[in-house]
Amino acid sequence: MGLLVVGSVALDSVATPFDKVDNALGGSATYISLSASYFSGPVHVVAVVGDDFPQKYLQMLESHNIDLDGLQVIDGGKTFRWAGKYHYDLNSRDTLLTELNVFEKFDPIIPDHQRKSKFVCLGNIDPVLQKRVLDQLEKPQFVVCDTMNYWIEGKKDELVSLLPRVNVLIINDSEARLLANEPNLIKAAKLIIGMGVQTLIIKKGEHGALLFSGDVIFSAPAYPMEMIFDPTGAGDTFAGGFIGYLYKTQDLSVENIKRAVIYGSTMASFCVEKFSTEELEELSYLRIQDRYREFLGLSRFDDNL
Ligand code: AMP
Repeated sequence: MGLLVVGSVALDSVATPFDKVDNALGGSATYISLSASYFSGPVHVVAVVGDDFPQKYLQMLESHNIDLDGLQVIDGGKTFRWAGKYHYDLNSRDTLLTELNVFEKFDPIIPDHQRKSKFVCLGNIDPVLQKRVLDQLEKPQFVVCDTMNYWIEGKKDELVSLLPRVNVLIINDSEARLLANEPNLIKAAKLIIGMGVQTLIIKKGEHGALLFSGDVIFSAPAYPMEMIFDPTGAGDTFAGGFIGYLYKTQDLSVENIKRAVIYGSTMASFCVEKFSTEELEELSYLRIQDRYREFLGLSRFDDNL
């Protein structure tokens, strides 16, 4: 049946202290679907672009077994645009521009044959739209949801009302603090779980990720990177690898969810190695497996004192 991904498809302008790129391929659905495509196909994308969106990007996505039946192309419309500028440490960024354009009137319509989808990734878009997607599905089994400060600040009530329908919420540390209104991450996690989400993953950029599920707390390392070109999309790429692996294995045990966190981190580590989706376009399952094994080695130690 495939994995259903909803989110933004965007043209991004990104500046880092070392380089910049204008109108490059971006968007949450783009990164999620490309990342997930290495684990399982087909990946069905529900999103919207304007007629200014370059055809070559659509072809590239389709060549990765990404089904674009649910992608609306609006005649005379302008594609969503985002611009960001990274600080010196590449861990934090300022958003310079968020132009919703075709997203302002977007009504996500799930094609009939995708309404039975069981695995769904709600990428970062307006939580009202994320909810509208869930309303059209017959009986989703596993819903992963991502969001960002823009929506936590602008549509917090809508987001919070969505959380009881979400199995895994993936956010970064500053978003967790903002959502819970609590500076301590562990307390923030408890408050967010209290909002009704089953499992919470908090990404901490170059410091790894924390998983909270029931009584379990799992701390995943980050891959030590010497060269980071562009962190844009790392969070979405994480979500794509995470749900792609779980869809492939169809095992939702906590132990397997921990493995999925490592696969998510593995995919994110590739994403940041080049601008935009460049590195994600050229990966192979073999390279992913090699880096996954390196990840395992990172936190293995001999406790036989
Ligand atoms: P990340 O770096 O994982 O937080 O994701 C960055 C991607 O999110 C970029 O490619 C943007 O196009 C996209 N994006 C940024 N702001 C928004 C927003 N408000 N709604 C939807 N997508 C967004």
